[in-house]
Amino acid sequence: MKILKTELSFTSLTKRYETDMIVIHHTGCNDIDASAEQIHSWHRGQGWAGIGYHYVIRKNGTIETGRPEDCVGSHAYGENSHTIGIHLSGDFEQAQPTNEQIEACAELLADLCKGYGIEINRKNIVGHGELMATDCPGKNLYEKLELIVGKANWYYERYYQHGLQPPDVSDRYIDIQSDFPLHDYDLKKIESIFKTSAHPLDDVKEIYGSVVLEKNVLHIGNFSNHTYHIKY
Ligand SMILES: [Zn+2]
Repeated sequence: MKILKTELSFTSLTKRYETDMIVIHHTGCNDIDASAEQIHSWHRGQGWAGIGYHYVIRKNGTIETGRPEDCVGSHAYGENSHTIGIHLSGDFEQAQPTNEQIEACAELLADLCKGYGIEINRKNIVGHGELMATDCPGKNLYEKLELIVGKANWYYERYYQHGLQPPDVSDRYIDIQSDFPLHDYDLKKIESIFKTSAHPLDDVKEIYGSVVLEKNVLHIGNFSNHTYHIKY
């Protein structure tokens, strides 16, 4: 998970002492790849201390810091004192969130929930519209919250719970090494499993037997003359 630290300055901030919920937002209006800096200037223009969200997830999966995580945000009216706000850039009434945004959001949720001791479920991770009457985070992202929470649980169990970090989304290739040449249909199957499943590695293990992931290299079998690159 790559978090880009922005150097935004705020007028006045208040510390937050309780964190038991995370609220998901979108940009709305236009399907643009808004940066934390852009949103910061919009929100300052409204007379706020600065960007109201704690994190911004760009379309390529880069996570940018917004308001300091330990301060009260300005993103969910009446609920800011106990919540963290995550904004995914785009208008998800019209467009779809990118796969990179979905993975980055799931990882960030896993990491935050571990840090604050929040159970990863749909009661604690909500869309803005579940707290008040608004279209935010857009129907296409709202429909994917279940999937994102499922993935967050998977990232938590596999990585964050053990103090580990998953490989970066932007650079997530697995080298598959096999002691036998895989057929095209095997590769296609593996690719499709990695793309669609919330538990990709377990599924591949189940189907192909012994599989070990080591530093981004997935070993199928013992020794290898054949290496394949798979994006997941
Ligand atoms: Zn919102």
